[in-house]
Amino acid sequence: MKKIILSLLAAVAMPAAFAQFKCATDEVNNARIKQYPQIQVDMDQFNAAFDVYMKAMAKSNLAKTTAFGDTMHIPLVFHMVHNYGSEYVADTIVYQTVAQMNLMYNSLQPDTIDVITPFKKYLGKGNILFHLAQKDPNGNPSNGITRRISNLFNQGTDQAKIDGWPNNKYMNIWVVNTFDASHNGAAAYAYTPQSANGIPYYDGVISLASYLNTDNTISHEVGHSLNLSHVWGNTNNAGVGCGDDNVDDTPPTKGHNPVGCVPAALFDVTCATNYIRNGIDYPDTVNAQNVMDYTYCSKMFTQLQMARCRTALSAATAGRNNLWSAANLSATGILNTPTDLTPIADFSASKLWSVLGAVLPIAITFKNQSWRDTISSLQWSFSNAPSISTATNSSVANLFNAPGWVSAKLVATSNAGKDSITKNHYVYIADTAAIVPGNYVQKFNSADTNYFPCINYFENSFKWEYVNSVGYDDNSCIRYNNFDTRTGNAAKAGKPEFDYDDFFTPGFDFTNVPSSAPLTMSFYATGAYRSTTQTDVLDIYATKNWGITWTKLPAGSLTNNSLGNTGIKTTAYTPVGAAQWQLQSFDLSSYKGSNHVYFKFRYTPSVDNTDLGAGNHFYLDNLQITQFPLGIDASQLKGQQAIVAPNPASQTAFVTLVGLNNETVHIQLVDITGSVVASLQVPVQEDRKVVAIPVAHLAKGMYMVRVQSSTFNQADKLIIQ
Ligand SMILES: [Zn+2]
Repeated sequence: MKKIILSLLAAVAMPAAFAQFKCATDEVNNARIKQYPQIQVDMDQFNAAFDVYMKAMAKSNLAKTTAFGDTMHIPLVFHMVHNYGSEYVADTIVYQTVAQMNLMYNSLQPDTIDVITPFKKYLGKGNILFHLAQKDPNGNPSNGITRRISNLFNQGTDQAKIDGWPNNKYMNIWVVNTFDASHNGAAAYAYTPQSANGIPYYDGVISLASYLNTDNTISHEVGHSLNLSHVWGNTNNAGVGCGDDNVDDTPPTKGHNPVGCVPAALFDVTCATNYIRNGIDYPDTVNAQNVMDYTYCSKMFTQLQMARCRTALSAATAGRNNLWSAANLSATGILNTPTDLTPIADFSASKLWSVLGAVLPIAITFKNQSWRDTISSLQWSFSNAPSISTATNSSVANLFNAPGWVSAKLVATSNAGKDSITKNHYVYIADTAAIVPGNYVQKFNSADTNYFPCINYFENSFKWEYVNSVGYDDNSCIRYNNFDTRTGNAAKAGKPEFDYDDFFTPGFDFTNVPSSAPLTMSFYATGAYRSTTQTDVLDIYATKNWGITWTKLPAGSLTNNSLGNTGIKTTAYTPVGAAQWQLQSFDLSSYKGSNHVYFKFRYTPSVDNTDLGAGNHFYLDNLQITQFPLGIDASQLKGQQAIVAPNPASQTAFVTLVGLNNETVHIQLVDITGSVVASLQVPVQEDRKVVAIPVAHLAKGMYMVRVQSSTFNQADKLIIQ
C-alpha cells in the first residue's frame, strides 16, 4: 500500500517541479506586432494561404497520413552564452536534443504509442530533419556548437544573442542560465518568421540550459520559428479561454498548464465538442499531448502542423526557404559524413584573485572544460607553479609559491588530435606582505599593474585599464573603459549591461594606526555618461580574511553624478585639466588594528534599455590610504610644520605635526572675538603626529589655530561649518 502511494506521488510531483514553465514567444512577438503592425498583416496573409492549402487537403482527404515528399534538411547551431557554469552544456546533451527533435518532427519516438486513440491517425510526419552544422559561416569545420563567456549568461534576452550565424543559413539556438527580469519566469522563446523578418540578428530560439532536454522545449520553440502557434492560439494564456491555432487537426482548446499526463487533460473536451472543419469531423477531444501545449505530456505534432512548418520553410520570409536549399546544405556541410574533429581546449578557475597559499589553504581550482571530442589526456602548465599532467581528471588545485600574475596553459588531447589554450595574466596571487600606509599614494603608472591587478571577468572591452595619456597631476591613472564603441548590428548584442569588473589593491597593515588618528582612503575621480538612463555604480569592498569574505566600506559606493561628474558626453570622455577631477574620501577607521586589509573596486555598468551602454569612461587617480587627514598630500610632510585639515571642518579638525620630535606643543583654538575655545598641551615623540580637535559643538565661523613649541610658532585660519 505504501509503495503505491509513493509512486502516485512521484507521478504527480514530476510536472509540478516544472510548474514555472513559461514560453515567452507570444509576449515577445505580440510586442513586436504592436510596434510593427505589418507583422500581423503578413501573419494574416500566411494564415489565409494556409487555409486554402488545408481546404484542398481536406477535399482530397490527404490531411491524415500522407507522407510529405522532399526531406527538408535544416542546419542548426547552438550557442552557449556562458560563465562556465551549468549553462556550459555538454556536447552530448546537444546531440541528444537534436536527436529528440528529429523523432518528434517525424513521430518516430517510442512514446507515440501513448498518444490517445483519436489522435493516432493525425500523428505528424514532417519529413523535416535537423542537423548540427558541420561548417561555420567561414567554412571551417564545426560540430554546430559555439561557446562564448558573457556577462549576459544569466540575463537572457535578445541582447544575449551574441555570435549569431546568418539566419537564412542556420537556425540559431542560444542557451543561457537564466532570463532577465523582462522575461520573468520564462523558459524559452522564439520569433515567428514574420516577426524575425526585420530582426535577422535576433531570429532563433533562446532557452534556459535547464530546459534544453526537458519536455521537448526546443521542438516547441522551433515550432514557433516555423510558424506554429500554441494550440490555444497566440493571444491569451494556457487555461484561460477557448482559442485556436489556425491548424484544422488540432481542435480548439483552452490549453493546459503543467499537469502532466492526467486524465483531466488527456480527455478534456472543453472547446472541442462537435468540432468539424472543412468537412472533416476531427476528434472532439483536445490535443493535450501536443508539443505546442504546456501540459508536460508532449508526445506529438499533428500532420497539419507539419504542413504548416513546411509552408513556412518554403517561404522567403526570414530566409526560411534558403535553409534547406542545395547550396546551403553544401555550405553548412550538414549532409557530409561526420568526421572526428579535434577537441577545443578550454578551462576555468574557481576564482581569479587570491593570496599566497602559504597563509591559508586557499588554492585556486582549475577545471578542464575542453569540448568537441572525448579527451584522453590533459597537460596543465602554470607560469609560477609546477606543471601537472592528468588523464581526464576534470580539475586540478594549485598553491602558488610567488606573488603576481599567473599565466595558465592547458593542452587537451583526444584520438583525433590535440588543442591548447593559454590564458595570459589569468589569475592573480596577492602578496601577503602588507603596506604600512604612512605616505601611501598610488598614481597608477604602468609598472603598478603588477600590484593593482585588473580582472576582466567576462573578457570583453568593458574593463579596468591603465591609461598613459592622462591623469590628475601626471599622465597616468586607471580608468573603467565604459564607452561602447560597437556599431551596426554588433551594437544589438553583448552590451556592458550586467557586466562587473574589479581591480584590487595590495594588502595594508593598519596595526600601528593610533586610535586617535583618522584613517581614510581618498582619490581623485572624474567621469561622464552617455545617456540620462545611466545607473553605473562603483562599490569599494575590503577583506580582512584573505578574500574569503568582502564587505563594502561604510558609504562605500559612488553613483550618478559622483561617477559622471562632467555630465552627458556622446563621445568617449577624456578629462582635460585637474579642475575636472573630484576628491572622494572614505572612512577606514573600522579597519584599524588589522594587519592585512585588501581593497577591491568593483565597477558595475548601467542596466538600461538602450542598445549601447548608457555610461562613459570613468577615471581614478592618486589613491591615498593614509592615517593623515583628508586634504593632506603626503609629499608635503617635510621640514617643521603644522597642517590643519580638513579645512573647512565640521566634525573634527586634525592638526598634523611634522618634524617636532621631542617637543611639547601647545595648540589653541581661538574664536573671532579672541576667546580661547580649546587648548591642548601635546608631548610629541614622533616625526609625525596627528592631534584631533572636536569642533562639532562649536559655533560656525572663522577661528584661528595657534601651534607653538620652543622652536616653532604658527597660526592658521580654520573655518568651522
Ligand atoms: Zn511556446
